[in-house]
Parts: sequence; structure tokens; C-alpha cells
Amino acid sequence: MLMKQTLVLISLLNSCGRGPVDDFVKKNINPQDDTSHHRPTVVEPSIQPYLDRFELLYKADVSIRIEFGDLKSPTAAVCNTWSDGYRDIDVNEEMWRKEGDLGREQVIFHELGHCILSRGHNDTLTTVGAYKNAPKSIMNSYTFGDSFVYKDNNSYYYTELFREK
Ligand SMILES: [Zn+2]
Repeated sequence: MLMKQTLVLISLLNSCGRGPVDDFVKKNINPQDDTSHHRPTVVEPSIQPYLDRFELLYKADVSIRIEFGDLKSPTAAVCNTWSDGYRDIDVNEEMWRKEGDLGREQVIFHELGHCILSRGHNDTLTTVGAYKNAPKSIMNSYTFGDSFVYKDNNSYYYTELFREK
């Protein structure tokens, strides 16, 4: 038990995650019906499988642009939310290449939590399964998809993502 808790803590500390940067970015547009920021609904091929997973859990199709953008570490990805309601996601390609499968999943689910579910951050720590002081939500400001607590408690985190506000 102690070993597991230590691993979670180390994982959080080592996180090259998005926190504490603001990745839920509000952007104002020119009031004169400026739609130049509306871009084709393209999804980067290596990200598509994670959008597919989200859609399965969400039980609905999601239409959103997700591509690599000009982001600097520690920002793994951002959800841009424009004042006319348009939303899209940019991902840090360098950090994406270094992430494992669940690390990638948590980053994309987190951004879709902002962009599609309109959730903000939740940095509450709680007991999740056998882990104490674990992130309560995928909407934690820090990435933790590569941690044991996420790996061992997938279904808890999925349920929390879609049920909580
Ligand atoms: Zn965020």
C-alpha cells in the first residue's frame, strides 16, 4: 500500500502535465461576425483513437477539431473556447509523442471534458480504490494518466467524468 501511494505521488510530481497552466482558454472574437477562427473539423490521426474511446463512453458523436498546435511545455494541450461558442483543441506534439496510451487518453479526455462537457478543473484529492490522496477527477489540473491510480481505476474516472459537473 505504501509503495503504491509513493508511486502515485512520484508520478504526480514527475508529471510534465498541463498544470498549473490554464488550458481552458477563453478567446474573444471580433464582434463583426468574424469566423476566420472556424477551421475544418480535422482530427490528427494519432489522436483519433482517443476521440473514438470518448465517443463510446459519451454515447454520442463528437465533432471537434483536434490537431497539433504551437504549445510549449508544460502545456500538454488546450481547449480553446471562443466567444461565439466555437471550440477546438490544440495538442503539444512533442509531449504527445512521449506519452503512453493511458497518458494520451487522459490528456484528450481532460480537454474534451472542457470543450464538450464544459467542465472546469477539479483539484480535489480523495481516496480512489486503494489509493489515498489521489486525483478525484480526470479534470485535475495535472496529468496523471501514466499513474497506477488511473490504470487501476479507469471505470471510476470515466464515470466521474460524465456524471459530475
Ligand atoms: Zn484543463
